[in-house]
Amino acid sequence: MIEVTRIQAIPSTPYAIDLSWEVRPTFDPLEDYSFTVLRSESVGGPFTRISGPIVFPAAFLFRDNQVNAFSKIRAYRYRIRVTGPTGDTLEFGSRTREERARTGEIGSVGIEAEPDRIVLAMNRRFELLLRAKVGRPVMVLSRMTFGQYCENYDAELQKHLRADCRQCWGTNFAGGYYSPVLAWLRVNPKPKGIRRTEIGEVHPAVSVAELGRFPPLKPGDLLVERENVRWHVGTVQTTEKRRAASRQIAQISQLEAGRVELQIPVAFPQGHIFVPEPALRPRMDLTSLTGARRIIESGG
Ligand SMILES: [Zn+2]
Repeated sequence: MIEVTRIQAIPSTPYAIDLSWEVRPTFDPLEDYSFTVLRSESVGGPFTRISGPIVFPAAFLFRDNQVNAFSKIRAYRYRIRVTGPTGDTLEFGSRTREERARTGEIGSVGIEAEPDRIVLAMNRRFELLLRAKVGRPVMVLSRMTFGQYCENYDAELQKHLRADCRQCWGTNFAGGYYSPVLAWLRVNPKPKGIRRTEIGEVHPAVSVAELGRFPPLKPGDLLVERENVRWHVGTVQTTEKRRAASRQIAQISQLEAGRVELQIPVAFPQGHIFVPEPALRPRMDLTSLTGARRIIESGG
């Protein structure tokens, strides 16, 4: 059985907590396992399933958008359930393998501190703005940094034995990148620059991408535009205030011709991309508001 580590729960908007987790590097085929997110409103449980089975190479990410930050965001506790090839299951929480062997406790993961509600509200507004106005849809390929080793990777030598590997695309982990996740980004116009090298002038296309907290970007990830222009993520700046995630700003550079990552198959959703409207919660009773206006207008 594989081992889940580093479960994190980070509130990103008033109605969303973003979960992520990792697995200890293994030679087990990860596609034999599925992951389910469990949630409770108390440390002691009971824990109930809030996600469908998440099957590798889907990214180990889940946005819980059934939360209410205004009342009980502190109370939410999470676990990850792993289902193995024979249907056997094991749950993981805050305890390490050693701790659970010693105490028999799984533990659970919650958010670490009360989030700043103003930041959460700003994040939500920014995400809406990206979807509705300034952003464009981009497929994000999250680079694997843990998981099942590529068969061409020698763990003892800690060396990859082949160049231009199509099993891992140079990441050392089987598959290389998780399944693409659709995200809305603002890509700033390319600043132009010319670099002189031994082979002549190159025109590196570098730019800056801005997005909300989800999906989390890291150096080495890839961004694929609808026109199949591909970008390599360099540094990522994340503004985080009192454990409330905020927007991400990434330096990106366009993949040059000949790079093996250009051959990674990425299916872009065709046609009109459905823009899911984040659940709107009425702040006030609109019928009574209309009633009130009517009273004012009629001079009452
Ligand atoms: Zn490889």
